[in-house]
Amino acid sequence: MKPRKAILVCYLCGEALRSPRDDDHVPPKQFYARSLRKKYKTTNLLTLPTHRDCNNAWKLDEEYFVQSLLPFVRGSEAGDALWRYSFDKFHKGQGVALVMQVKQEFMRKVGGVILPANVIAKRFDADRLHDVLWKIIRGLHFHDTQEVWPDRWTLAVTITLPGQQPPDSFLALTHDGLLKTRGPYPGVFAYSDHVFPDVNNLHFWAMLLWDRIVVTAAFHDPQCECEHCAFIGPVFPEPLSGTRLL
Ligand SMILES: [Zn+2]
Ligand SMILES: [Zn+2]
Repeated sequence: MKPRKAILVCYLCGEALRSPRDDDHVPPKQFYARSLRKKYKTTNLLTLPTHRDCNNAWKLDEEYFVQSLLPFVRGSEAGDALWRYSFDKFHKGQGVALVMQVKQEFMRKVGGVILPANVIAKRFDADRLHDVLWKIIRGLHFHDTQEVWPDRWTLAVTITLPGQQPPDSFLALTHDGLLKTRGPYPGVFAYSDHVFPDVNNLHFWAMLLWDRIVVTAAFHDPQCECEHCAFIGPVFPEPLSGTRLL
């Protein structure tokens, strides 16, 4: 999908485009296993022009995002393909450090409680997941509106792994038909967004990753001037409606 109008700014930093530039995939290209890109001839993945430096700055975080969710993606076509792809890469010695880091985040012990051997708690690097998610949302929003959203914003994030019950907000919106699935390859990445004008223009986004993982993000509109969003300071005294849940 090529954007309709000529794009003159980098959506990542908001400044005028200049060389060297890159085409940034939204969502990240790593979401698509190579075998799947071949099979479905995915030549029309959404890309946005960015500065090369801005694009490069996200590479490691995007890799982490995919690697940390990888243990949960098996069971769908896109997930299985991605799993195999990553497994092959690992055996060729690529990305070993990252895989080891993600492995270490699997803990058998949570807060001193020994879990049964088949229940392994996963500790995510919440900030990294949050920031990559926000980058994807910024890109999709920019593609629709050409509006640049700030690079820092606070989302309330939920991640629902296979076999878990998605949050009530998600179920309610799905039930009311408010979430319409979008995206050219829904087996890899599908998303919906909805705005509630009565609630500080609350944005609610839902994403389905590899047909296995449901991610939701809720946040006030970046133009919001409510006391929480307008607050500038080191620590807000109270948790607020935009606090991440992760
Ligand atoms: Zn830039
Ligand atoms: Zn607000």
